Amino acid sequence: MAFSDEVRHELSRVIPSARCCRVAELSAFYDFQGFLLGAHNQFLDFNNTSPLVARKILLLLKGLYPDLPTQVLVVKSRSRRAQICTVRVLGRGPAGQVYQDFKDQGVLGELRIPRKKCCRRAYLRGAFLSSGSITNPERTYHLEISTEQARLAERVLETLSSLGLEAGLTQRKGSLLVYMKDGGGIVNLLNLMGAHAALLRFENVRVMKDMRNQVNRLVNCETANVDKTVKAAMEQIEDIQLIDAVIGLEELPPKLREVARIRLENPYASLQEIGALMVPKMSKSGINYRLRQIREKARQLDKLDPKY
Ligand SMILES: [Zn+2]
Repeated sequence: MAFSDEVRHELSRVIPSARCCRVAELSAFYDFQGFLLGAHNQFLDFNNTSPLVARKILLLLKGLYPDLPTQVLVVKSRSRRAQICTVRVLGRGPAGQVYQDFKDQGVLGELRIPRKKCCRRAYLRGAFLSSGSITNPERTYHLEISTEQARLAERVLETLSSLGLEAGLTQRKGSLLVYMKDGGGIVNLLNLMGAHAALLRFENVRVMKDMRNQVNRLVNCETANVDKTVKAAMEQIEDIQLIDAVIGLEELPPKLREVARIRLENPYASLQEIGALMVPKMSKSGINYRLRQIREKARQLDKLDPKY
């Protein structure tokens, strides 16, 4: 199952216990996909929802208004061969009452974001279930909620921001997208909406990815070091071969000659390993010092002999 569907399935089973939150979540469903219909507004429809979301809407409605006359209309979507459901509240009175409750819920500011924090979480859950999606975290961190209404996009942005979540706004094919790209932010939102199982999955992937990155960094670092060591050794060997060709190694002082010989015989040895092969043994810095002297000698000879 796609990760997005997993989140959707989980969220469609979260039923808030407080009345205020139920109204807030339903009002999000209405904002995104609801209509008052008929000559005298005798229907209130929640449109185009998956069966799971339709079931949730119905449960929320029946919890709030036990005797509410409702109807569920099911059509087969031609493009996706999925069932698409409409939950309909029947009758001018009932439809009007539900609509009025949405209007009367506690909201703040011109964008009418839910006043209470608990209701903001419920509202975002409804918004995500209506038109949100999330990319599998293995691929990338991306969560979005789309709408064609600018005001609604602003409301979602403002609601997110009031809960300390940063989101961006962009356009795609005539739709506005409120999106999040930050893994930590997405985790927080999943938590606030109540998608705890999905959150754990997301976090696991995040930890694995982090570890993989760290290991890759270490491996790259190691490779860079090895490259450096090999390059240095090749240069030392060139120096020694130059000295040998111009004046002969036997012209070097005995201590340098010994280091040069061991280096030639052990082209891949580290300075430490060369030190261990010396009699008596020498420290890494001692070997380094002598190799620098060899380098100096080679430089002098290099200048004298235009052949090199
Ligand atoms: Zn609430």
